[in-house]
Amino acid sequence: MTDCIFCKIIAGDIPSVKVYEDDDVLAFLDISQATPGHTLLVPKTHVADLFAYDTALAETVFARLPKIARAIKASDPRILGLNVLNNNGEVAYQSVFHSHIHLIPRYSEDDDFSIHFGDHTADYTPAQLEAIAEGIRAKVGD
Ligand code: AMP
Ligand code: ZN
Repeated sequence: MTDCIFCKIIAGDIPSVKVYEDDDVLAFLDISQATPGHTLLVPKTHVADLFAYDTALAETVFARLPKIARAIKASDPRILGLNVLNNNGEVAYQSVFHSHIHLIPRYSEDDDFSIHFGDHTADYTPAQLEAIAEGIRAKVGD
């Protein structure tokens, strides 16, 4: 896709700091470095978001995650953990519409990266949870 910044990175038209590459994926440092080593894994095929993946592309991309995660962790003994984050849609904080997976190494609970999960446990009855799940189950394809 000609006006896609990540397609331009994959094509070598704009620079990136690469950490892994094969025929199907590229991993490179996120320019914003939420924590040191913050890496983006992208399919070389232009696909906007997770909703557009087929099974083959998912197998290709997600199968690469463990070895890249292990390499990041092994690169610095200060890294104690790692968050994997994949934003889909503007409402979910996606800003580049070429699908990418963030790998964010964690150094401590105070390393200036946080995720907030609101706790709404008390807001739902079992019947409401069942109705939500049934709505999703009814839409699961292959
Ligand atoms: P998201 O908000 O999930 O769409 O994340 C997009 C990410 O792409 C952000 O964390 C940006 O810092 C990163 N980014 C944007 N342009 C570049 C670039 N040229 N090289 C590396 N990372 C980039
Ligand atoms: Zn693209």
